[in-house]
Amino acid sequence: MASTLTLEKTSFLISERDHKSCSSSCEEIKMKKKKRTSSSSTKDSNKLDLVDYASLPNFLKHNEFILSYYRSEWPIKQTLLSIFSIHNETLNIWTHLIGFVIFLTLTTYAMSIVPLNTTPTSSLTQETNLTTTPLTSYFSLNLSDQVISNQEVSQPITRWPFYAYMCGAMFCLLMSSACHLLSCHSEHTCYVMLRLDYAGISGLIVTSFYPLVYYSFACHPLIRDLYLCSITVFGIATIFASLIPVFETPEFRIVRAGLFVCMALSGLVPIIHKLMAFGDRPEALVTASAGDDGCFLSLGVIVYATRVPERWMPGRFDLAGHSHQLFHVLVIAGAYTHYLAGLVYLRWREIEGC
Ligand SMILES: [Zn+2]
Repeated sequence: MASTLTLEKTSFLISERDHKSCSSSCEEIKMKKKKRTSSSSTKDSNKLDLVDYASLPNFLKHNEFILSYYRSEWPIKQTLLSIFSIHNETLNIWTHLIGFVIFLTLTTYAMSIVPLNTTPTSSLTQETNLTTTPLTSYFSLNLSDQVISNQEVSQPITRWPFYAYMCGAMFCLLMSSACHLLSCHSEHTCYVMLRLDYAGISGLIVTSFYPLVYYSFACHPLIRDLYLCSITVFGIATIFASLIPVFETPEFRIVRAGLFVCMALSGLVPIIHKLMAFGDRPEALVTASAGDDGCFLSLGVIVYATRVPERWMPGRFDLAGHSHQLFHVLVIAGAYTHYLAGLVYLRWREIEGC
């Protein structure tokens, strides 16, 4: 009996000791768990904090004069939602997103225009009338231009080159906006988005030549198609060159540079040709709206390259007023001026035909 009691007491003591040791080790585990949870939650909250330039991974370091308010490697959900929060990309995202909406509105409006003055004897169908109404009579800034009636339209002229340009502008603005929103998510996303951004820029450059070339050489189909084809082929090749990783290697540097030069030349040649052929006409000088939109774009490129004004006061323009935001506004101004020039081309051909 005594031995049984002793045994029970011993086992009780052992179990108590075990319990004590268990409870202390459990406590330890609990503490460790708590510590781990708190450290991971600190890590999570840190992840969603805006950070300064020095804390960025290399792939996000683009402008050392913008010192803070960076998003860095945020989860995709928070990255998407950051479109509604304040950081140093907020205005970059919204400037081009608003630009996209403006161009979408202009395009939708242009497509929905119905003719004001259709003659019952006209052999044209309603659908054809939609495509032959002088577009500029609705958009012209000059009131005297608005008296153009359908009788002045000499023959139907297609509007696809005009719409192609509008699509090129919208694609460029949308890709740019998406690139600024999503690039902070990861290095891979940044890589993909930058390529799409380049593709958008190339697309805008190529399509901006379509109205100019098509309407200037509308009466010379062979020359017109030759110019359009060469611009398109070089444009597509340039886009592929910027999308395919192998073209980034130094061995392909010359090919890459050559493609950009060819794309630029394929646009410059028809401009020079046009000025020589129609130099006496005011519409030809609209090319020098390459004067207007070229001015905006040149100024934009200078601002972009020099990184003014943030270079003068680093940190002062982190949220608003830095060079990239100014560049975005100048791109929209240039694209809008080009759109107005496109209307002048349409008016020219819709009234005069060939
Ligand atoms: Zn941008």
